[in-house]
Amino acid sequence: SENLKRLLFMEIITAVRGFKDVLPPETEKWRYIEETARDIFQTFGFREIRVPLLEKTALFQRGIGESTDIVEKEMYTFVDRGDESLTLRPEATASVIRAYLEHALYNTETVTKLFTSGPMFRRERPQKGRYRQFHQIDAEILGPDDPHTDAELILMLMHFLKKLELPHLNLEINSLGCDQCRPPFRAAIHSFLRGQEEKLCSDCRRRLVTNPLRVFDCKVESCAAILSGAPLLQDFLCPPCREHFVKVQSSLDLFDLCYRLNPKMVRGLDYYTRTTFEVTQESHGAQNAVVGGGRYDHLVRDLGGPDISGIGFAIGFERLAAMTPKPKTDASDGPLLFIAILGDSAFDEAFRLCNRLRMKGVRVEMDHGGRSLKSQMKRADKLQSVYTLILGEREIAEKKALLRNMRASTQTEIHLDQIEETIIELER
Ligand code: AMP
Repeated sequence: SENLKRLLFMEIITAVRGFKDVLPPETEKWRYIEETARDIFQTFGFREIRVPLLEKTALFQRGIGESTDIVEKEMYTFVDRGDESLTLRPEATASVIRAYLEHALYNTETVTKLFTSGPMFRRERPQKGRYRQFHQIDAEILGPDDPHTDAELILMLMHFLKKLELPHLNLEINSLGCDQCRPPFRAAIHSFLRGQEEKLCSDCRRRLVTNPLRVFDCKVESCAAILSGAPLLQDFLCPPCREHFVKVQSSLDLFDLCYRLNPKMVRGLDYYTRTTFEVTQESHGAQNAVVGGGRYDHLVRDLGGPDISGIGFAIGFERLAAMTPKPKTDASDGPLLFIAILGDSAFDEAFRLCNRLRMKGVRVEMDHGGRSLKSQMKRADKLQSVYTLILGEREIAEKKALLRNMRASTQTEIHLDQIEETIIELER
């Protein structure tokens, strides 16, 4: 019968694997989250930037790092018709910095605070909480490199998450040091793992050569067991990095903010230096990281710009939305008025009234024609319309109609010439 169905009907074309539709009413929650972020970020002095979804591949190769999972195996890269290698952005920081440099924003201000939100693309294995197109809210501070900036950004993030009333959040912080601290750490990790390389997974054996820090990011259990007693970068921090990290913590302590030090948190991108942080939620299973962020003191320079520091975070929208309780609003999503039509001759009059009210900002729905009064009233009910108005030939001839309050089950007769004023008055 499947075959018959296929013969009789054209098969519908479904979305690409790992690409998800966001349907109403979920979209309303998304808008609420976005508006809350915008409000709070603006109080902290952030302004919005919008950057393209498509960039030259080299931007991410240089920005994110060749030895990261993202660049090695997850990017949507293709050669376009002009023979140029392009990539759908897997994250936003590299693009924001490209724009910052391209428009020389550093010439107009010493501190630049930018935020953006939108879709990112990574060809990962789709599962709950992990998609190939997902969305992030990003915030970046470019310019200052002092520890208060790190604290300020983290403070804003936690304030935002608190505003959304998310339960059971854990904030974890770490320092990834700098170019000074990493070579001795690298040597220590190599000597710790000497003789055990064979027991590591193939990814980790490769990471040992390309970027040993990355082995801490491995999800394979046997690797984690081998690494349980491994040296930690925190014991190799140079004095300035150590001081920076201590000051970040004392600055956070000013605000009664709970956090945990996690010396094994390395993050999945190469550009981080010094402070890194993650927010996770206990009950959210394997994909429990909601936010990742950190300082990147050389990224601007590595992308061809001046020596300017930066710090930023990316919030995973899908995971955030899944945790966010439904926003508490009194306003119903439905229309204020539903116009039911009795007989086709009343249609034009109803259509005009409907449009007049919509032009004035009143939410009005009406029938699309030809249905029984009963089914129109059913639809009004389903849409949770506050009022209904029944318009027939008689009502139009007498210029009077019944306005029914669906919640109170009461009705009043009103003059058609006064409908607009009455409805607008009711809306207030
Ligand atoms: P990252 O850019 O890898 O630091 O990730 C920052 C946040 O984006 C994570 O904590 C997740 O919440 C979210 N995220 C990253 N990758 C995905 C994905 N494939 N699907 C859904 N959310 C993701």
